[in-house]
Amino acid sequence: MSLTAGVVAVQGDVAEHAAAIERAAAARGREVTVREIRESGLVPDCDLLAMPGGESTTISRLVHSEGIAPEIRAHVEAGKPLLATCAGLIVASSDPNDDRVEELGLLDVGVERNAFGRQRDSFEAPLAVDGLADDDPYPAVFIRAPAIDNVDGGDAAVLASWDGRPVAVKQGPVVGTAFHPELTPDSRIHGLAFFENEAATVPVLEDAQ
Ligand code: GLN
Repeated sequence: MSLTAGVVAVQGDVAEHAAAIERAAAARGREVTVREIRESGLVPDCDLLAMPGGESTTISRLVHSEGIAPEIRAHVEAGKPLLATCAGLIVASSDPNDDRVEELGLLDVGVERNAFGRQRDSFEAPLAVDGLADDDPYPAVFIRAPAIDNVDGGDAAVLASWDGRPVAVKQGPVVGTAFHPELTPDSRIHGLAFFENEAATVPVLEDAQ
């Protein structure tokens, strides 16, 4: 059966996430229709969801004012997969460490916004990421990226670290990355979040029969 994917499109790298979802689905012989989410009422029909990078203050304000925030929470509570990247990770966290960001509390982690320093605003790093389809390093693009804090004691598992700080985590159906997996042709992170995520429920091909 064809899947429906949603990309929260109030701001950020929407087209790139849509393309990465399509590549990850095609590599697994799955059909997917990607919808841009700018208003409430669409998320309930989505099998999988991505929340892109951008500016976390803007994204959090708009997902709350548009009534999308409770729908994202319900999506995760139903066990459906969510990939939250960069600013999306900040909004999905339990503690953005910034009063201007209203968190969704979907990952038991705190974050430090813009943690990797001004002189390194943007960089690419070969990351070892747990759970990828093979052992090749992942070419991770960081752009004014947050670092992940306070993982201990919560239910989030660290999938990757850079400079000694966690930069990718997974908690049940939610995968959060500080970097931008939509900006490289390598769709293994989207594959991990949506198709090889044992804690998430995605309709299988047989459901169509
Ligand atoms: N620095 C941005 C923030 O704090 C995130 C940057 C990004 O998503 N590339 O919201």
